[in-house]
Amino acid sequence: MSDADTTEDPGELRTPIVAVLGHVDHGKTSLLDKIRGSAVIEGEAGAITQHIGATAVPLEVVSEVAGNLVDPTEFDLPGLLFIDTPGHHSFSTLRSRGGALADIAILVVDVNDGFQPQTEEAIRILKDTGTPFVVAANKIDTIPGWNPTADAPVKQTYEDQSDRVRSQLDEKLYELIGELSGAGFSSDLYWRVQNFQSNIGVIPVSAETGEGVPDLLTVLMGLAQRYMKSEMEVDIDGPGAGTVLEVVEERGFGTTLDVILYDGTIEQGDQIVVGGTNDPIVTEVRALLKPRELSEIRTEKRFDDVPEMQAAAGLKIAAPDLDDAMAGAPVRVVGDKDVADVVADVEAELAEFAVETADEG
Ligand code: GDP
Repeated sequence: MSDADTTEDPGELRTPIVAVLGHVDHGKTSLLDKIRGSAVIEGEAGAITQHIGATAVPLEVVSEVAGNLVDPTEFDLPGLLFIDTPGHHSFSTLRSRGGALADIAILVVDVNDGFQPQTEEAIRILKDTGTPFVVAANKIDTIPGWNPTADAPVKQTYEDQSDRVRSQLDEKLYELIGELSGAGFSSDLYWRVQNFQSNIGVIPVSAETGEGVPDLLTVLMGLAQRYMKSEMEVDIDGPGAGTVLEVVEERGFGTTLDVILYDGTIEQGDQIVVGGTNDPIVTEVRALLKPRELSEIRTEKRFDDVPEMQAAAGLKIAAPDLDDAMAGAPVRVVGDKDVADVVADVEAELAEFAVETADEG
């Protein structure tokens, strides 16, 4: 961090972490791709950053994509960090201190198919973890006669449709709202929702045409800003805390960890404790890696070495002795604490994790 950075007090705001859930083929991957794509087109190159296992969409890009839907001065959260691996399996294995790693979720539902088994499963997981979510009613472009406007706010293109097309969409949306009600959630089209804490916002989208993506980003940002700001207040310079996404063999580095850092700072050389299949692993960060910028890809190297990373971020940790590390396990920077205390914390968290995984079985 530069010397100019004087904001050291706890209470700095981190980026909310967003996960995407939903039934297979309902469009989770396509929607994530579209979010990445539209952010790249609208923002200047590089404004959106690819992390390991995640994509950061800064506030400036959200407001650029959202156009007049967003007044950036209303926000002080830095943006949104999307976990790249969609699906409820990754969602339920990724924990942070007993809760869900993701702060908010997007439940993707194919507007033609409605609720399917994995939609129900996702709803159950969201309910159990108390994770706030929005519903992306996807594939609106498949409504017969749909007249698309690429990447436009759906609030606008909805009005642009013929009465017949709009009422067909309405019918499907009301079915979906009925299904959500059956699952115990009161919901409505997002532009009719006053209180997003008691009502789930339904956002009609197309991952194909990009319609509704501006609205989706706007609602997520608004939800986070309005209802999650206090949870985003972290001691950003404090010892880092994260969750292992994946344990990956990497040529030249050996066994590495892909990690989502949700709190504090991690630095090269830091002593860390990582949850393992046997005892927690105590080791030292040899290198912190992030994906190499596209402009520099000519070289063989796929990663950039960085001295430190701050939450929220996705990164790769290279360190000795990681062979027994587990996906879903906690990673903690020891910092000024007693190593034994941090090991005990990690053990306690792993015990909880084991109980939950057994419950799911
Ligand atoms: P996932 O299994 O939930 O990740 O679903 P995918 O993103 O792989 O999408 C499943 C299929 O639906 C693919 O063939 C996509 O091209 C298609 N698809 C996804 N979103 C849309 C959409 O908004 N409109 C249309 N027409 N097709 C879509």
